[in-house]
Amino acid sequence: MSKIKISELFYSVQGEGRYMGVPSIFLRTFGCNFRCAGFGMPRGELSNETDDIARVVQMYNDYKELPLVSTGCDSYASWDPRFKHLSPLLSTDSIANSIMDILPYKEWQDEHLVITGGEPLLGWQRQYPDLLDHPKMHGLKEITFETNGTQKLTPEFKHYLDDWTIANWDREITFSVSAKLPASGESWEDAIKPEVVCEYEQVGTAYLKLVVATEQDIADAECAVGAFRSAGFKGHIYLMPVGGVESVYTLNAKNVALAAMKRGWRYSDRLQVPLFKNEWGT
Ligand code: SF4
Repeated sequence: MSKIKISELFYSVQGEGRYMGVPSIFLRTFGCNFRCAGFGMPRGELSNETDDIARVVQMYNDYKELPLVSTGCDSYASWDPRFKHLSPLLSTDSIANSIMDILPYKEWQDEHLVITGGEPLLGWQRQYPDLLDHPKMHGLKEITFETNGTQKLTPEFKHYLDDWTIANWDREITFSVSAKLPASGESWEDAIKPEVVCEYEQVGTAYLKLVVATEQDIADAECAVGAFRSAGFKGHIYLMPVGGVESVYTLNAKNVALAAMKRGWRYSDRLQVPLFKNEWGT
């Protein structure tokens, strides 16, 4: 039986993008190809907030005890090797059983599954079919992969996802692609991969969710959208404010909504911040 290294598994409402407000199971896998240490920092500078937390990592036995950060990646413990002991390697059987335990009716109703990270389309593509074919997953109808849009689908997984949707007319796959702009601290060449994201559109619905704070970020978003459209990308564009903590998010949200409206793009909130203070497990 396959195993997946899981950072978090919880039930909440989706706070971002197309399924905002939908009751959702979040499966957060471990591992990412980026660090995104630039978020919330002056341009060109990188956050070292997680270094301070990592120095006293032995104090923490559970995800929920970890401090939230206001700069860098707010999911740092889902990829930083210094926190990997907090993410167990679980069998797909045990994951499916845990999902049943946290669903309100102990079976799938209208809930949607969010496979997030980290970057969930790294090596775990090989293990997902085993999980999705588990008898307890048969009532699931909608899946979103929250990805940074840099990982190609393997031919085997692409084929599997095609079959998964064909097997039932009301099944749907979504790729919520948070392509990383320069404000993340990642390089344009590594982060903006239109040809990869266009391939996602062959097996499901894909949209871009671009995280911005400043006028420069919005100009970068326009450039990125131009590159994606030139490659044939057809999906919706969402702008989402920077801000894993409420003080930063509140500063940004209205301006970002106005910037999205001006361009005919969609606005994505981060409902988990005003509703739940972005605590782990929300
Ligand atoms: S791609 Fe996402 S999970 Fe990975 S470092 Fe960046 S913000 Fe964090």
